[in-house]
Amino acid sequence: MLDLVDLGKRSFSAYRGIAPDEQLDEVLQLAERLRGARVLHLNATPYGGGVSESLRSGVALINDLGLVNEWQIIRGDQAFFQVTKRLHNALQGASQGLSESDKATYLAHSQLNASQIAEGYDFIVVHDPQPAALPMVGGLKGARWVWRCHIDTSNPNPEAWEFLRPFLTAYDAAIFTLPEFIPPRFPISRISIQSPAIDPLSPKNLPLPVDLARLILEWIGVRMDLPLVTQISRFDPWKDPLGVIAAYRRVRAHIPNLQLALVGSLAMDDPEGWDIYREIRDATTGDNLIHIFTNLVGVGNIEVNAFQSLSNVIIQKSIREGFGLVVSEALWKGTPVVAGRAGGIPIQMPEGTGGILVDSVEECAEAVLHLLRHPKEAHSLGEQGREHVRRHFLMPRVLRDYLRLMDKMVHEQPLAPRGLALAEHPSASP
Ligand code: UDP
Repeated sequence: MLDLVDLGKRSFSAYRGIAPDEQLDEVLQLAERLRGARVLHLNATPYGGGVSESLRSGVALINDLGLVNEWQIIRGDQAFFQVTKRLHNALQGASQGLSESDKATYLAHSQLNASQIAEGYDFIVVHDPQPAALPMVGGLKGARWVWRCHIDTSNPNPEAWEFLRPFLTAYDAAIFTLPEFIPPRFPISRISIQSPAIDPLSPKNLPLPVDLARLILEWIGVRMDLPLVTQISRFDPWKDPLGVIAAYRRVRAHIPNLQLALVGSLAMDDPEGWDIYREIRDATTGDNLIHIFTNLVGVGNIEVNAFQSLSNVIIQKSIREGFGLVVSEALWKGTPVVAGRAGGIPIQMPEGTGGILVDSVEECAEAVLHLLRHPKEAHSLGEQGREHVRRHFLMPRVLRDYLRLMDKMVHEQPLAPRGLALAEHPSASP
């Protein structure tokens, strides 16, 4: 068996009064219809990044509604995760594809992992490309398979996409964050568009008393008497941490005592993160107003909460982005955000809500400076952002979307024949 993530118990009724009532009511109705369904979620890492963040909250919560959800982690060595990171980058459009030996490594690990999956699930939800080949190489095991793609695959490297594409024909349904992310000649005919969401009751998003948040940040070395801007994200080229440093330096020409915190986690399936981390360190050594924190020195959920609550501005200067949970996390605390116009970020910050969208280092610097100089406007943007998140990006809405899809698959429409390419499917004709 693969490694099971232990999740504990969580209470769905605790969300009453926080998330919109109509969402909670619909979740309860759908869950009743799906009572007893067994669901397995598979992904590559139990920590680091938005996917594990969402699974940690959502999987436990859905178990409180009478379904039986499990979360398992596929196994892989360093070589496998190097290949899957290359595949991930290539699917997001990077020019480097996969070598023949990369493909062999991917296949060998997929076979090994597939052989560890038990029969008896009604649904198996596979997150992202790392475990995507499992149903094709290991058989369907009597389950309905759903591929949940969290990344932007709108313009994939053609060679990497041609490698992955045949494996996807084994699935019954796919979920994307945005319709634009669906890659060309996509072989799964049932597609659901669902954006991720944050858990307002997780330690990362609970309301943290200001005094406590200040003590936490002071303890780790941030000066609370000076202004602070922060980016929280994996150390990843798509998150553009060096662009953040460049933008910050421009702002600091106007506000010399401004601090920058870069808070980054290094994930098990992300060897590239270590190289970027070193680059960031090299670019910032000797500057005592720039703070770099990682999960390795114990900076975890509570610290992230404190940063998101107390920073004057949160930056998320992504160039490519799946969704960017950190944006909703910051807005939920009423903190204004300056973010790259990428992937799912604009749906979290529609015009005049939450902060300012930017397309370059220069725009990023200007926007940060503007918000620092206009605190009232910044505050009001943050407050509107919070309400937008409450309505659209809290965890019960994700449960609703999942349950709607499962309900359709079970009760309404017969499943599409497996292994049928979209081009050959009758519904694909114009
Ligand atoms: N995160 C964290 N510590 C860090 C960096 C990131 O806890 O040092 C969390 C962050 O709060 C968010 C998730 O990791 O919940 C990142 O999700 P997002 O969708 O923003 O990006 P992804 O990493 O999935 O590309």
